[in-house]
Amino acid sequence: MSDVKCPCGSGLPLKRCCGPFLDGTAYPDSAETLMRSRFTAFTRGNLPYLRKTWDPNTCPELTPDDLQTQWTRLEVLRSTQAADKAIVEFRAWYRDNGTEQAMHEISLFKLHKKRWVYVAPLQG
Ligand SMILES: [Zn+2]
Repeated sequence: MSDVKCPCGSGLPLKRCCGPFLDGTAYPDSAETLMRSRFTAFTRGNLPYLRKTWDPNTCPELTPDDLQTQWTRLEVLRSTQAADKAIVEFRAWYRDNGTEQAMHEISLFKLHKKRWVYVAPLQG
């Protein structure tokens, strides 16, 4: 348990990566780190963390049903960050009927009360 690898793909142990963000003892200082920690929150069913890191203007009603997906791994393809907004492109892999599938998204993040939050997908 203590040396469990972080689901976000950093290669670090959870407790030295997204763990402190999820348990509220630290907050990510970049949009990419925030994005990675949100992926970890999805894999661990941490609804309070997902709400906390979502722009209050776009955050949907989240229920445990939103966390049924069996996420397997994350690939960050590109991330660019300006002073108050950022874009992260990623592929999030999940298992569906025994096959691994990927969801591709280009996400918009912004600074809200001096903290990075997820806004919405940019595409589609
Ligand atoms: Zn992590």
